[in-house]
Amino acid sequence: MIELRNIQKTFGRNQVLRGVNFRVEHGDVVVVLGPSGSGKTTLLRCINFLEKAEEGFLRINNQEINFKTASRKQILDIRKQTAFVFQNYNLFQNKTALENVTEGLIIARKIPKKEAEERAREALKKVGLTDREAYYPQQLSGGQQQRVGIARAIVLNPEVILFDEPTSALDPELVGETLKLIRKIAAEGITMIVVTHEIAFASDVANKVVFMDGGMVVEEGRPQEIFTNPKEERTRQFLRRIL
Ligand code: ADP
Repeated sequence: MIELRNIQKTFGRNQVLRGVNFRVEHGDVVVVLGPSGSGKTTLLRCINFLEKAEEGFLRINNQEINFKTASRKQILDIRKQTAFVFQNYNLFQNKTALENVTEGLIIARKIPKKEAEERAREALKKVGLTDREAYYPQQLSGGQQQRVGIARAIVLNPEVILFDEPTSALDPELVGETLKLIRKIAAEGITMIVVTHEIAFASDVANKVVFMDGGMVVEEGRPQEIFTNPKEERTRQFLRRIL
């Protein structure tokens, strides 16, 4: 239901994505792995139009967009189907947890404030933050801030949630609870693309692992295949370094 074809992105003279292709089926949890600098974050940002790829196609359900010719309306339409969870949470510091979660609904989706608040409270309940809705980000732990970030994504009811290293800024003792929450949301059947180095999470939760290097997909497959019997030497080398 999501297809990326030939996605290319260049920063200055640095071609960071060199024609990325893969497919994600409805309900899949796809983990994107790869060395630092291989283009994982840029790829997620291109899917959400936080960056504009120069070439390639993105299809979500029946809607297809050509990065080269995309109109503003097409971009807005496709953005409505995706939500992004940032490594550094990216919360509005001057807004409460509740306001951070309602913001996208009220501003981008034009949903009335009262209804937005009802939906936001439900999302905050799901991430276990009901009693923190009036807190500002600085009054919350990193793990709680990331849970606000996750509530802000799920409240949009997107086709796919894009997680960009969601636990890498967290203290080690908070990583487990955050991964547990992501696993719980995945169990509800929400499609996810997750950039992470957490191999245990990838083994348990992902149905597909995509290994990237040098701006391309080197290898993809079921976690067991990739982790126990990688076909490509580059994948083997990478796994040897991190396992
Ligand atoms: P990864 O997530 O795999 O670590 P990134 O997508 O963050 O890789 O980065 C890939 C490459 O793109 C790196 O060389 C990085 O320096 C470069 N890059 C990323 N974002 C920008 C940007 N906004 N401007 C210039 N170069 C960038």
